[in-house]
Amino acid sequence: MSAIGIDLGGTKIEAQVFDDDWAEVGRHRVPTPKDYENIVAAVADAARWAAAKLPEAAPIGIGAAGLINPNSGLALTANLPATGHPFAADIAQAIGGPVTFINDCRALALSEAQFGAGRGHRCVLALVLGTGIGGGIVVDKKLLQGPTGLGGEFGHIAAPAHVIAEHGLPILPCGCGKLGCVETYVSGLGIENLAEALTGTRVSARQIAAGRDEAYARVWRVWCALAGDFLNTLAMVTDPDVITLAGGLSQIDGIVPALTEAATAAGFDGFGPIPLVLAEGGDSSGARGAAFAAWQEAQDA
Ligand SMILES: [Zn+2]
Repeated sequence: MSAIGIDLGGTKIEAQVFDDDWAEVGRHRVPTPKDYENIVAAVADAARWAAAKLPEAAPIGIGAAGLINPNSGLALTANLPATGHPFAADIAQAIGGPVTFINDCRALALSEAQFGAGRGHRCVLALVLGTGIGGGIVVDKKLLQGPTGLGGEFGHIAAPAHVIAEHGLPILPCGCGKLGCVETYVSGLGIENLAEALTGTRVSARQIAAGRDEAYARVWRVWCALAGDFLNTLAMVTDPDVITLAGGLSQIDGIVPALTEAATAAGFDGFGPIPLVLAEGGDSSGARGAAFAAWQEAQDA
């Protein structure tokens, strides 16, 4: 069975079409419209474009940043104007058939477990360190999904108190409405917060990474300590065979050895190393993972 995946981001909507062997047979990209109704229409258009590439009906998966509240059916999204709308239902209605709606980080986790750096491993934890932080856990090729859909919202775990106290860091408000989430120190924006707290100047992750031996050595060291402790927490919860790292910060030179060392140091002596690797799928993981989620749902039906 072939499948269709649509990656719905804040700036672009990308549809990918896969054949029975998961080879990509088509790709189509349009800019994301600014308002809700046009976004729904553009996703439906992308789905129709993709369906026309295939000889028979195929399951459609949509990966997007954000969540659908399972109680209300309403969306909660930071980078799309869809909060408070029955987003998945509206898209399904516009397409005229069922769709599988999946958080983009969960889609990436599935893609890495099935097609990427997690291939051949039983328990794959995917961590996306981007502007925000998200991820997903896949066991035996199945995404761990519960009643709330929040499994994988790793960024909103509390930051490690001992590192906060040791460096006199402020407890920062998070976009989620809580205080002191790990995302407020460890994400792309978080590392800027950290620089501001430690040096008085707000500098980008890129500048900190470039100057980590000199100008920003302390910011880099504290960031590694926070991110390493966070990785160890995730490993303690799931004991993963592999952790695949994605997102903008994963592009920093030498990030895997630096975080492996920090995470292993945060863990129990002699039980390391924390099995951290770079994700392989890159930008395509969202659509591919969403397509795979829809394909799995169709198999199970
Ligand atoms: Zn939060």
